[in-house]
Amino acid sequence: MTLQRPASLTDEFLQGLVARVPSSSGASWKLTEVYTGELLVELPQSTPADIERAFAAARSAQRVWAAWPLRKRLAVFKRAHALFLDRAHTTTDLIQAESGKNRRMAIEETCDPVMVMSHYLKRAPHLLKPVRRGGPIPVLSTSTEIRQPKGVIGIIAPWNFPFATGISDSIPALMAGNAIVLKPDNKTALSPLYGIQLLEQAGLPKGLFQVVCGEGPDVGPTLIDNANYVMFTGSTATGRVIGERAGRNLIDCCLELGGKNPMIVLEDAKLDEVVQGAIFGAFGNTGQICMHIERMYLPEPRYAEFRDAFVAATRRLVLGAAYDFGPDIGSLVSPDHMERVRSHVDDAVAKGATVLTGGRPRPDLGPAFFEPTILEGVTQDMLAGVTETFGPVVALHRYRTVDEAVALANDTDYGLNASVWGGDLAAACQVGRRIQSGNVNVNDILATAYAAKGTPSGGVKQSGVGARHGDQGLLKYTDVQNLAVLKKQVLGARPGQDYDEYVKGMLGGLRMMRKTGIR
Ligand code: NAD
Repeated sequence: MTLQRPASLTDEFLQGLVARVPSSSGASWKLTEVYTGELLVELPQSTPADIERAFAAARSAQRVWAAWPLRKRLAVFKRAHALFLDRAHTTTDLIQAESGKNRRMAIEETCDPVMVMSHYLKRAPHLLKPVRRGGPIPVLSTSTEIRQPKGVIGIIAPWNFPFATGISDSIPALMAGNAIVLKPDNKTALSPLYGIQLLEQAGLPKGLFQVVCGEGPDVGPTLIDNANYVMFTGSTATGRVIGERAGRNLIDCCLELGGKNPMIVLEDAKLDEVVQGAIFGAFGNTGQICMHIERMYLPEPRYAEFRDAFVAATRRLVLGAAYDFGPDIGSLVSPDHMERVRSHVDDAVAKGATVLTGGRPRPDLGPAFFEPTILEGVTQDMLAGVTETFGPVVALHRYRTVDEAVALANDTDYGLNASVWGGDLAAACQVGRRIQSGNVNVNDILATAYAAKGTPSGGVKQSGVGARHGDQGLLKYTDVQNLAVLKKQVLGARPGQDYDEYVKGMLGGLRMMRKTGIR
């Protein structure tokens, strides 16, 4: 049966989307439909000179945008919020075509920028309001904390959530008065390009949000050298390269990196809920979620019960290429990535692990399909034991004591997300606090933490630097200006005043301020 491509994805529509990507060399990259491997559109590839011009255009648009009253800037996002929801199905078509994920995950991805807009529409006026504080001399001096936009923000986004990482991270930056130059992954440039088109329809000034495309090592250096701040989401290896270059340029960056996330099931957890959670945790988005589960720790007395129920539920999952809500699991993003996932499973099996279910590519479904796979007997000498597989592969382990489970969960260089399941919430939270991880979800896998837009979300250890969401998710895109005013010249001795007298007065004043609490 041939796959019917969604009617929205006409050649004219796709060519219109990529038209904004500069390419003075005329070079292009073949962006394909993952399910079939067929060409969708030729994506222009930007040269260093193109990137510099994109920054120059963004910089001049930024000066005008930053001068708009905040209320006028935020009105753009109020309109965009409605527009993004109206067009969610077209966005979903694009996300599916370029990433191969199933429709349920794709439509959920479209909700992320909308949730981010909602949150910061409420929060930005408070965060960006100047804060007047006391100066060193009570009454006679003031200091005001003013938030200034940094200028042009470089955003480098991965392919696994192209729309969410490309657009959501730009929203607080734009609200704060910045411009954006985005480098999406070549494979998944279409959905963020559509998001920018929608933002412009909602009133975002043209030129403010630029897009440049190309392979990371070709585009990255010029992008970082021209940016005032870099927001990067991707692998830990690339994050280190980005961080080094940003550091040399003395600009700040936020690095949202990989994980090898554990799930601990406590003895009093409910079997059905755990199985349902584990299915999403291991196989949601075909295992390509940075916060997904690759290691599952089960209590010895209930190990066989959980394992058997999880394996049985996994065998019932429907894989397939479809632009409807049918399949439970979609494709991996590319044949190359499928080979990487396969190599992790083959390596584990060669070193003694057992495949309980799955373990094979499915070329009958499409060029990058791989079965949901559960492994037993994975050890740290295996690729799947220590490094991020980033596919639908999970390893089961047994533990005897909770202390052992916590120690095993923490035995990793990563610290992005962890999931703890138990009937006694207080006990489960106690366990959660002991895990070295930027996010911990109790009785959920990841959505509760990630969708809580008011709380910062980021990785510790090798999983990242900085965070998105929460107040710092917007404030990181600003510089603080300390505007200090002295109303009367009282710092220093008065004309004719003896310096000993002045020092005595000053020290006494400090003593009094400490005692009375005035400052
Ligand atoms: P990647 O690091 O290979 O690529 C990410 C982006 O960086 C792409 O746009 C790529 O073109 C670009 N890039 C690559 N090399 C570069 C360089 N030298 N200079 C500048 N840019 C460069 O990662 P990926 O394979 O696309 O994405 C998967 C990874 O992303 C996984 O490790 C996953 O865990 C991680 N991820 C993390 C989060 C998070 O929030 N922590 C979210 C999504 C994905």
